[in-house]
Amino acid sequence: MSQPFPTIFKQEQPQSWLITPNGSALEQLAKGIWDCAVQTNERPLVVLSTAGPLIGVRAALEKYRPDPSILNPKTAFLPQVISFNDWLEAAPGAWKFPKKQSDLERWISVYVNLRKYPKLKTWFKAESDAGAWGLAQSVIDACDILSEAIIPQLHDQLNHLIQTNSLDSEVWTKQLQELLDKTIARAYPELARKVVDQESEVLLTFWRYLSGVGDAVFRKRFAMAAHLSAAQAHQQALQQTPRPFIWVQTADLKPIDQEVIGKYLNDYAQYAPIVEVTLDWQSIALWSEALAGENAAGELIELSAEQTQQLQSNIAATHYQGWNLISARRFEELAWAAAKSIEAHLIADKKNIALVAQDRLAARRARALLARLGPALNIRDETGWKLDTTRAAAALNSWLELIRAPKEGPTASVLLEFLQNPYLDIPACIQKTPEVCIGLVAQLEDILIASQAKSGWETFYMAIERANAYAVNHDTVPNEALLKLLQFVRERHHAWQQMDLNCSNAYALLQQNLQDTGIAQSLEQDLAGKQLLEVINTFDLSSGDYQRVAMRLPEWISLIKTVMEEASYEEAGKEAQATLSILPLSSTRLRTFDAVVFIGCDEQQLPAFSEPPLFFSDALNRLLKASTMTAQYVQQARDFSQLLMSCANVDLLWQSKSKSGEPLRPSAWIQRLQTQLPKWTAVVFQPELHGGKARPIERAVTTLDPDLPLPLSMSPSAYKALRDCPYKYYVRSLLGLREAKEFEDGFDASLAGQSLHALLRNFYQALKTEEQKADSKIKDNTPARRQWMEQQLFAISEKEFKRLIEGDGRVLGTLRDWQKQIPSFIDWQLQREAEGWRYHNAEHQVGFDLHFVDANGVDRLIRIAGRADRFDINVNGEHAAEVIDYKNQSMTKIKKRAEHLLDDPQLLIYARAANEDPESAHLQGREVSQAQWVSLKVDIKRDKKLTRSLEIEGVPNLMPAFSEQLIEDMQNLWSRKEMAAFAPDGVCKYCEARGICRKGMW
Ligand code: SF4
Repeated sequence: MSQPFPTIFKQEQPQSWLITPNGSALEQLAKGIWDCAVQTNERPLVVLSTAGPLIGVRAALEKYRPDPSILNPKTAFLPQVISFNDWLEAAPGAWKFPKKQSDLERWISVYVNLRKYPKLKTWFKAESDAGAWGLAQSVIDACDILSEAIIPQLHDQLNHLIQTNSLDSEVWTKQLQELLDKTIARAYPELARKVVDQESEVLLTFWRYLSGVGDAVFRKRFAMAAHLSAAQAHQQALQQTPRPFIWVQTADLKPIDQEVIGKYLNDYAQYAPIVEVTLDWQSIALWSEALAGENAAGELIELSAEQTQQLQSNIAATHYQGWNLISARRFEELAWAAAKSIEAHLIADKKNIALVAQDRLAARRARALLARLGPALNIRDETGWKLDTTRAAAALNSWLELIRAPKEGPTASVLLEFLQNPYLDIPACIQKTPEVCIGLVAQLEDILIASQAKSGWETFYMAIERANAYAVNHDTVPNEALLKLLQFVRERHHAWQQMDLNCSNAYALLQQNLQDTGIAQSLEQDLAGKQLLEVINTFDLSSGDYQRVAMRLPEWISLIKTVMEEASYEEAGKEAQATLSILPLSSTRLRTFDAVVFIGCDEQQLPAFSEPPLFFSDALNRLLKASTMTAQYVQQARDFSQLLMSCANVDLLWQSKSKSGEPLRPSAWIQRLQTQLPKWTAVVFQPELHGGKARPIERAVTTLDPDLPLPLSMSPSAYKALRDCPYKYYVRSLLGLREAKEFEDGFDASLAGQSLHALLRNFYQALKTEEQKADSKIKDNTPARRQWMEQQLFAISEKEFKRLIEGDGRVLGTLRDWQKQIPSFIDWQLQREAEGWRYHNAEHQVGFDLHFVDANGVDRLIRIAGRADRFDINVNGEHAAEVIDYKNQSMTKIKKRAEHLLDDPQLLIYARAANEDPESAHLQGREVSQAQWVSLKVDIKRDKKLTRSLEIEGVPNLMPAFSEQLIEDMQNLWSRKEMAAFAPDGVCKYCEARGICRKGMW
């Protein structure tokens, strides 16, 4: 039973009033507050120690408003209800307080000083930038605990100072600082005696020299003193009592806060009526700790016989039939069970439901499952959805990742991640119309993937330039906008590399970047974006002492990321038929819900304790009168009791098996209740099962859709795919599906491969030019020729690889590997020359038209074409010519290729194409009757003979069978015959279509 509201009479002592925190707690409170208004004929000021019940208290006051006839006009307004923090913010004369140091400024000041103590970072394993920022935060938290510990010592002097203060805020600040310094100096030796660890001694030094009157802990105290002084002034000036002050303590305070508030209310009672409202656990507590709490030594108090009796009658009086115990075996089942419980409450027309997220992960999953209920259910997450999990933060993060890249440039993944973020305004960046920019980033991605350009600005430029050059040669339009876009990003990345970073110029440059890229404008349009911009604005230290603090770029980026991780994202509220509040247990205090679903009530998660502070043991915390484990334990027992006793429908869910497969029991609190309520048993959640009949998967076979267009041309590699596996050809070439390739670590093989081809072409052109010179010494002098060739090939290789190496230093290894090959490559070339072979030309597009008749008797034509690496001619024979293909592979692999020549007939295709149209390869009057593969990757250490090439035997003899096979394959394709998935494992291993044909499942 709750007590009646006390009769207010003039006394200089706070009056206490206890309310029972059950389902009617808000009603009791509202009626008491109105009672106070009626008794005093004043509008009371109600200050709640936590903000959670604010709305509920206001609503209850409205609901239980007394008859207007008993209220005078002054008290007809709703009593003022405000949270403690808001009340402090509204302190009179706050402008006179010492300048507030923002959280960020404090953080930076500690961080800068931490740099001087590398040992401290090692002790706390905080060597990384993020770790160091975390350590700075822990130092601040610990300093706050120490500052709070000396507040009672400051109490009287501070009140005196505020009451006698001059209006000169500078003088005031000075006096305050002196007072604080003296108090800290007095407290220091005493605390130092208590704090014996080396780390803690360092911490004390931090506290002694970095604490200032601008710290939040002290400002809070100033605000309280200012309110007190105002109450006194009011009383003296008007000769009347200020309005009553009702202090509602919604949760147990830390001992130090209890001491400070107790003293404060006593002081305040000199000027105004004070009512201190606390919660009475007598008839609510379900466990001994909730009823008796802890003693001054921090130990749980044992129950008296009378209290034991009380506890038993509390338990006996519970309506436990409305509390459902539900266990689920797996994580997913737990989330489903929670979603189903909520669904059942909604069906039962419950409008205001709470999901207590003791297991935050499972609560998130349940939320995702509930999203299918649509906008009829408004889900409000009060557990602190982090800002850094939003899309807006991901956009900013993509830019931070890009600017932290080394000066050579970012990786392709980082670049594309940034370019693909939806907040980027590409047309504004490159001053082009939106039409021009359609598909631009997709095109860039294609180019970078195709050329395997994995990192570095120079590498990206080369890839785009080559793609543009290719486009020019193939009558398509090169895309200059790509280069412009790249240039735009590169310039901004460069600016970060060049600057001497300090907090002020880094902030200015980041803001400039966000403006230039249009990201700032897009963020303005978005709720999370706006909140993100506000967080970024807090980095504006231009008017503070820390604007010139120098930092390394990674340090500064790490600071921004850490701040984003800490910031909460507030979702917009919306009208809906029902509301689900996801909240921690502590937020259920003095709030009413139609139903509560409590997820994560297992023995590991309930109770849950906050991370202990880094520097203080539990014993030291007790000495400093800070929060202890026992206090948290008692508070949770009380919160849980209150929740169960104030809500008729509570579902308690937990996972009955841990991640490691160990059985998990419900929380000890539930088990203890069960011993006294034997009928209160758990049910195991049974997921709904849907039956279905499995059909074994068969080998993938496709019949081409009549509307699917068939190819009018085919490259040698596409034909190889058709031969390897018709299904693979169908997926890759006819459907055009490609795997979204990730960029792996390693250097860009393909651009390097292209460079090898290009440097060989340049080398042979240089050789031709040199030979044409009249005074050339390399014509008849083989040693001189060899020397010239080696020198030239070395030099041309260096030149060709130069840009690639600038883009990605790792490519240097590939160049050196290739340069080791050069002497034996020259040997091979000289050997060929001795046999009469001369380089003729390189990289010519050649092809031929294949005529055939399809299954319907219709004449068809398909062009088989590709680019041949090189043609040689023989000076000893009038007609002989040879086609050569360079392979960046070992000879072993090339030999394997040769075993299935007709399945990989690239060289036969070039030979036939050159013979049918000699002009295209500038081979008029010659016949390509020979073909060979040349390895650019001979195993120099193991292959003593240094074999470099593999000749294909009897090319002319192979031609009839090849042509016959080609026609048959084309006829099958054009007749739309079935295309089956079938290939040896060696081919399937790297096949992109594997996920579609499901090889391995049949
Ligand atoms: S995985 Fe093998 S069988 Fe399947 S499509 Fe690719 S090559 Fe053909």
